[in-house]
Amino acid sequence: MSRRLEVDVAIIGGGLVGSSAALALRGLGFSVALLDKGFCGAQASGVNYGGVRRQGRPIEQLPLSQRAHAVWPRLRALIGIDGEFLRSGHLKLARDEADMASLEAYAEAVAEQGLDLELIGHNGLRERFGWIGDGIVGASFCPGDGHANPRLVSTGFAAAARRAGVEVLENTAVEGVTRDGGGFALEAAGNLTLRSRFVVNSAGAWAAPFAESFGEPVPLSRIYPSMVVTEPMEPVMSVNIGMEGGGIYARQVERGNIVVGGERALPLNDPDLSRPRGDGAIAIMNNAAALFPGLRHAQAIRFWSGTEGAMPDKNPVIGPSETTHGLIHAFGFTGAGFQIAPGVGEVLAELVRDGETQTPIAAFSIGRFRETSARTDAGSGAGQNQEPQH
Ligand SMILES: Cc1cc2nc3c(=O)[nH]c(=O)nc-3n(C[C@H](O)[C@H](O)[C@H](O)COP(=O)(O)OP(=O)(O)OC[C@H]3O[C@@H](n4cnc5c(N)ncnc54)[C@H](O)[C@@H]3O)c2cc1C
Repeated sequence: MSRRLEVDVAIIGGGLVGSSAALALRGLGFSVALLDKGFCGAQASGVNYGGVRRQGRPIEQLPLSQRAHAVWPRLRALIGIDGEFLRSGHLKLARDEADMASLEAYAEAVAEQGLDLELIGHNGLRERFGWIGDGIVGASFCPGDGHANPRLVSTGFAAAARRAGVEVLENTAVEGVTRDGGGFALEAAGNLTLRSRFVVNSAGAWAAPFAESFGEPVPLSRIYPSMVVTEPMEPVMSVNIGMEGGGIYARQVERGNIVVGGERALPLNDPDLSRPRGDGAIAIMNNAAALFPGLRHAQAIRFWSGTEGAMPDKNPVIGPSETTHGLIHAFGFTGAGFQIAPGVGEVLAELVRDGETQTPIAAFSIGRFRETSARTDAGSGAGQNQEPQH
């Protein structure tokens, strides 16, 4: 049986970016359909590490990141749950003097951006964070950053969007989009035809074919960050931890489990899917035990990965299409889209309503790839991109 729908805005992809956009658009009075090929929040948005971190982002992302920063403490009012969001602070460790110099340079460069970074020397670190092992020369602390439970937050936004009146269509892959005089026609699974005035392309690692079909090829590749979680432990870790230069990141949740990330998983034959490497998981736990003596006897109980869209310059694509009026892109968050997604959703809603936003997004224009020979790469991206530093 075929089905027809007509809405103001059709959103392709119900990750945190698409779901937060859907909720924001509904708040502005638009009729919205949110389509996902599987379940909303089941891909990167629901399986990520959960780092809610501004520290370490490229400067051009900070205005957007600050916008999102204002949303996180309002989750309960916005989506009905707090998503276990905890403003614990984010501590970025320096292994040597070169790392420390790099943290100092970053702190100076972002001094006007409101991150309130505090540089901490070796002695200060021992006094305040005695659970960190030797061999760390110093750190940079961002007190307002934190962490949250991605599985709750991402599905929470989609559920809130549904309650607000968004037509949430799961297991409904968009198979094609065309534009005609009056707007867009989308063909989707289950014989669904949908007409809309606007389309938001927030299909994560799967967004490139939609951009390409409107004459905008992009060099989107896939990465598969690898995660491990331990059994519940006594409180060990009071803050979200990252390393300058990447390598490892760790946080302890209220129940006591410690989530540790690092390394990369490998794609399966179907590059939508990946499998964490056993030796990768062991390396993650060995690195964690070396850094945090309290984890030396921790049992790892689960490890996993997820599929993330990555851009070569590590910045996402956010903004209007340059070929097609009414089409707006938001993808390629390169391992760091969880924190900024609620801000991206608000920006996308403004782009639909006003055609512009006060939040600077020029650096994320799809036009920056016009000159490069764009290619869509389904490879792992392992070794090409520096590990995102959560
Ligand atoms: C393991 C891991 C750890 C990470 N850790 C962090 C972190 O600590 N902090 C941080 O800030 N970021 C982190 N990230 C990155 C972050 O999770 C992503 O940047 C963010 O979730 C991207 O959201 P999204 O909505 O763009 O993509 P996704 O969540 O991937 O959503 C895209 C959706 O589009 C749907 N879709 C695709 N094709 C179609 C189609 N044809 N029709 C309909 N729907 C379609 C998919 O099913 C999917 O649900 C991590 C990512 C991974 C994988």
